[in-house]
Amino acid sequence: MLQPALETPAIDRPRMDADIVCVGFGPATGGFLSTLSKKLVNADGTPALESAVAPGLPPQVLCYERADDLGFGVSGVVTKARALRASFPDIDNAGIPMAAPVGEEKVLYLLDPIGASRRSALLRLADKAIRACQWALPFERDALNLPWTPGFLHKQGGLVLSMGQFMQWVGAQVQNTGAVQIWPGTPVSQALVENGKVVGVRLLDQGVTKQGAPADGFTPGMDIHAALTVVGDGPVGPVGRQLDDLFGLPENHRARDWAVGMKFVVDLPEDTPLKPGTVLHTFGYPEPEIFGFLYVHPGRVASLGIFVPSWFDSPVRTTYRYLQHWMTHPFLWHFLKGGKLRSWGAKTLAESGRRGQPHLAGDGYARIGEGSGSTNVLTGSGVDEAWATGAQLAEAVLELLKAKKPFTRENLEATYGQRRRASWLEKEARAAEKSRDGFQRGVLPGLIGMALAGLSGGRLVLPGKSLRPWERIPSLEDYFRGRIPPGEARKIRDDCYARGVSAHAALMERAGWPPICYDGQLLVSHQDALLLGGKVQAPPGYADHVAFVFPNECRRCGTKLCVEACSGQAITPGENGAPNFDREKCVHCGACLWNCATASPENPERMAATFRAGAGGLHSAEN
Ligand SMILES: Cc1cc2nc3c(=O)[nH]c(=O)nc-3n(C[C@H](O)[C@H](O)[C@H](O)COP(=O)(O)OP(=O)(O)OC[C@H]3O[C@@H](n4cnc5c(N)ncnc54)[C@H](O)[C@@H]3O)c2cc1C
Ligand code: SF4
Ligand code: SF4
Repeated sequence: MLQPALETPAIDRPRMDADIVCVGFGPATGGFLSTLSKKLVNADGTPALESAVAPGLPPQVLCYERADDLGFGVSGVVTKARALRASFPDIDNAGIPMAAPVGEEKVLYLLDPIGASRRSALLRLADKAIRACQWALPFERDALNLPWTPGFLHKQGGLVLSMGQFMQWVGAQVQNTGAVQIWPGTPVSQALVENGKVVGVRLLDQGVTKQGAPADGFTPGMDIHAALTVVGDGPVGPVGRQLDDLFGLPENHRARDWAVGMKFVVDLPEDTPLKPGTVLHTFGYPEPEIFGFLYVHPGRVASLGIFVPSWFDSPVRTTYRYLQHWMTHPFLWHFLKGGKLRSWGAKTLAESGRRGQPHLAGDGYARIGEGSGSTNVLTGSGVDEAWATGAQLAEAVLELLKAKKPFTRENLEATYGQRRRASWLEKEARAAEKSRDGFQRGVLPGLIGMALAGLSGGRLVLPGKSLRPWERIPSLEDYFRGRIPPGEARKIRDDCYARGVSAHAALMERAGWPPICYDGQLLVSHQDALLLGGKVQAPPGYADHVAFVFPNECRRCGTKLCVEACSGQAITPGENGAPNFDREKCVHCGACLWNCATASPENPERMAATFRAGAGGLHSAEN
């Protein structure tokens, strides 16, 4: 039995009928609703198209968003904004808070200033050569500014945005048309499937125990029946995963590559030399596998953060701690010292791209956005691509509605699938598809593979064996071999777990990483960060959305990666070997879904931890 969604009690539920129901309000659904809503009602207010469930009215379109308000998502964002401009030609003058045209762009290779990161012999040799020739190179404060970067990495002509501010603006545009309703704070628990056809969605039950059993004030989630369900629930969406488990992926497709992205929004010091629109990308430090970004908004505000990818084979891959080491690299600290943390957030990115693409459509449903494999890992771009898929689906839906054709798999394939495959999105996705395979062999082959794929349009690649996330995690002893004696590594971890805390800080410090010198304003403890930026909130009466469904596997698990990698310190060592989950600290990043060292006994493509629909999370519309 697969457990894609929480088992909901079999009871009579309230029911509502709509024409179209959407799951999630991220950029993908933003693109869908922006395009659709403009065409449902005529200028004089009469319906341009008629609803099948409310005759005389325009089609009834509902969108349910899990987070407590619109724009509580997390992203970088720098974007070429091609699809965004197609929807909003005046976007540059729209007055979107925190938006700036892309200015100076730099890609920097960060050397290790303290000698703690795990570098291969080849990389150490390259570092030595760079240091020896630094007088002749654009090298300052332990960073090499790459003198040339390939065009596919550039975002010139694009925009630096705040995802939260942008999505709030989009939400207002869409709802002002009066043609669409968006409901935040309303998680969808699952798709309703009848005889292989998706007929709508079920909202999450309220008034239940942590395990989902009815309790005081039980309010069963409503069933929303609709001719079309649009699934735009992002990289770790429970509805998308439910459909993947039910219908499988197309042949040779697999969704195994992920990263955790964590970002801070920061007030830069008053005398910052960084201009709005500045875009810095880094690689090489704190570990060679970790990429970083810093984008400058107007008003001395910056978005900055790191991505910890699935191919960073570490049993203690903590994004928060690594982010602080990245910020204190001399090159970055020069700009950040004296700054102040405004808010933060974390979210998983699906990095399999086109290879992770599910069936784009089936009877009664269509997939859009990152959960449909739209993110381009070669160009480091997801927002524009997600938006484009939503806009393409909207055009297809309008075509079908006008022709009075049903939302069957064939009709959606012939309209949406065909549009998507004929567009720039598919061309660029094909070029990117195998571009990161080289990282399966190491960082240098990975970078060479990316360059080859980018410069040859995907014709040349460096192959690499694809491993499932749980297959790549070494034991604590193996990972720290040569740095911490095996018995000591285990003892450090056991001591930490006996105190109920994760062990990555103690292990990293024993392996040579300096402690973080908290300054109370930019470098703050993980616990203090949870209280920042509108805080993490967890409304009562919902079932736990993170669950360890195979407790025996957890008891046997010697790695406990879920504890070490949790973005909010919400997962802690439990008494009987199974971890504890504290909803009050969960930022809904979804990292625990794949940061697990053990396969699900039921499906080797899934792990022993699960991430279901849930309410609450971070309250910040700046991320
Ligand atoms: C730290 C970070 C930095 C990034 N930087 C960049 C960048 O610089 N440029 C760029 O182009 N891309 C960037 N990306 C990637 C980009 O953010 C994503 O590709 C993009 O947001 C995908 O859009 P989406 O609409 O498909 O999914 P999402 O943005 O994930 O939106 C999905 C929505 O669905 C909601 N949802 C999920 N489950 C449910 C449910 N059960 N019920 C109701 N609602 C649900 C979620 O709350 C969310 O609002 C970055 C990502 C991260 C994490
Ligand atoms: S969820 Fe995975 S990593 Fe965590 S204890 Fe269980 S098996 Fe281990
Ligand atoms: S428990 Fe919450 S914060 Fe921790 S990894 Fe899972 S989703 Fe992220």
